[in-house]
Amino acid sequence: HHWEKRVTKSACRNSDSGFTVLVTGAAGFIGCHVSLSLKRRGDGVLGLDNFNRYYDQNLKRSRQKVLSRAGVFVVEGDINDAALIRKLFDVVHFTHVMHLAAQAGVRYAMQNPHSYVHSNVAGFVNLLEASKDANPQPAIVWASSSSVYGLNSKVPFSEKDRTDQPASLYAATKKAGEAIAHSYNHIYGLSITGLRFFTVYGPWGRPDMAYFFFTKDILKGKQITVFEAADGGTVARDFTYIDDIVKGCLGALDTAKRSTGSGGKKKGPAQFRIYNLGNTSPVAVSELVRILEKLLKVKAKKKVMVMPRNGDVQFTHANISRAHRELGYMPTTDLETGLSNFVKWYLDFYSPSTKNPASSSSSSSW
Ligand code: NAD
Repeated sequence: HHWEKRVTKSACRNSDSGFTVLVTGAAGFIGCHVSLSLKRRGDGVLGLDNFNRYYDQNLKRSRQKVLSRAGVFVVEGDINDAALIRKLFDVVHFTHVMHLAAQAGVRYAMQNPHSYVHSNVAGFVNLLEASKDANPQPAIVWASSSSVYGLNSKVPFSEKDRTDQPASLYAATKKAGEAIAHSYNHIYGLSITGLRFFTVYGPWGRPDMAYFFFTKDILKGKQITVFEAADGGTVARDFTYIDDIVKGCLGALDTAKRSTGSGGKKKGPAQFRIYNLGNTSPVAVSELVRILEKLLKVKAKKKVMVMPRNGDVQFTHANISRAHRELGYMPTTDLETGLSNFVKWYLDFYSPSTKNPASSSSSSSW
């Protein structure tokens, strides 16, 4: 009963125009930023996260504390738990599901392939099952990935480009998610929007990503490995700042048309949409290191190696004209500005002079 109260309180809107959104992966990097933005503008938000151990759990718990202070409750559970998802849908009538829970990272798939299928395929189906049965159905916005472009090397990537050559199991499960989403849209009239994020970075980011562990290792004086392509070509990423991604997510939620579902009089014009959310400005990994050295005021110890075939692709670059046209998406943060915000947060959060890192968040932008 106590649990139900916290769930409904968190999902309660404080404005009439707002939405009631279930955010999966809310204790994750992007999930916590999106949840906070929704709550701040008056939407009802309920989080769900299984707090898995893929990376530092303390970081996830600290994000949860920030969310809790903002009035967002995060239910601890797995998207594969059908009974739990049904119960949440019974207690709260969600207008939208922002589905960000996933097993992320391309290299970890070589050690733990099943976790990708579990979270990114089976878990997604479980959410879609509950959503299709809800009346009215919530509109779904979910995280696909730029990795679906795989071995396609025609840049910039546009949504119409081929995505049938994934380079990792992670990419393959995201591609599978897009196909599964299409089938639910087709049969059940669910409104579904897939967002292909391009290398998202920023405060409260993910420790398994290069900009994050480079920062850590450079500060420690530890050697970092910078990969170059086998043909000597540039390895680059279309690094996209978290605040820009959040705007894209909110744009996708705001433009999602909910169908009336099978219980309604007429099957609504259910949407099936896919958008690139990138920065349209790829930066070489060597340049990323140069910016970090400048911001940290420490010279990196670098080892340059040829990129192994481990699931990473050489180059990413988003064409964002569709997202710009239809979602009003336009990133405004360049890499140096964004990294500077990240470094400020990092030093604050991990400052050795702070006894309790979880409480140090009060001086960040949150
Ligand atoms: P993250 O790992 O920080 O967040 C994901 C959260 O989901 C984690 O807190 C994790 O505990 C939770 N989770 C995982 N499996 C779950 C399950 N079965 N049930 C419940 N919770 C579960 O990652 P992120 O960077 O915030 O990514 C969010 C989404 O965006 C993911 O779908 C990811 O694949 C996608 N994405 C991220 C990037 C990026 O650069 N960060 C790029 C492309 C796509």
